[in-house]
Amino acid sequence: MAHQHAARRGDTDPAPLAERLRSRGLRVTHQRERVLAAVAALEHATPEAIVVRLRGEAAAGSTPPDASTVYRTLELLESLGLVWHTHLGTGAPVYHAAEHPHLHVVCQSCGAIASADPALLDAAAERLAADLGFTVDVGHVALSGTCAACRERAASEQT
Ligand SMILES: [Zn+2]
Ligand SMILES: [Zn+2]
Repeated sequence: MAHQHAARRGDTDPAPLAERLRSRGLRVTHQRERVLAAVAALEHATPEAIVVRLRGEAAAGSTPPDASTVYRTLELLESLGLVWHTHLGTGAPVYHAAEHPHLHVVCQSCGAIASADPALLDAAAERLAADLGFTVDVGHVALSGTCAACRERAASEQT
């Protein structure tokens, strides 16, 4: 999958998590830290992929969180503003660390995903705000279309 946003593999700073949990009267648990680290490391991780990763990471004798715990933890982290999710298609949403806002474009033919600067949609967002009073969440769904490779292939097949 073509993807350009900067990865922060495993170097999640735990301070914001701890602060935000404490300010809500919540404890910093190992599981919450692990889920946040997995989101940061995986990029475009579905909850299932996070479960699989945590299962692989679990030390011998320790119990990795089950899927429903991971879902609940993701919801909690999202409510704290530490992760966000986007829908790339009809499958499960994918999760991102909060530090990297971006837009997604997804190819309808081959499924390739690319990231783009959310500022690209500033003009559209301003018009929606002015005309409809609507605040658009540009990162929440992907724009679908045809990637450069698929367009080239289609063009060469026609000749
Ligand atoms: Zn992304
Ligand atoms: Zn394609």
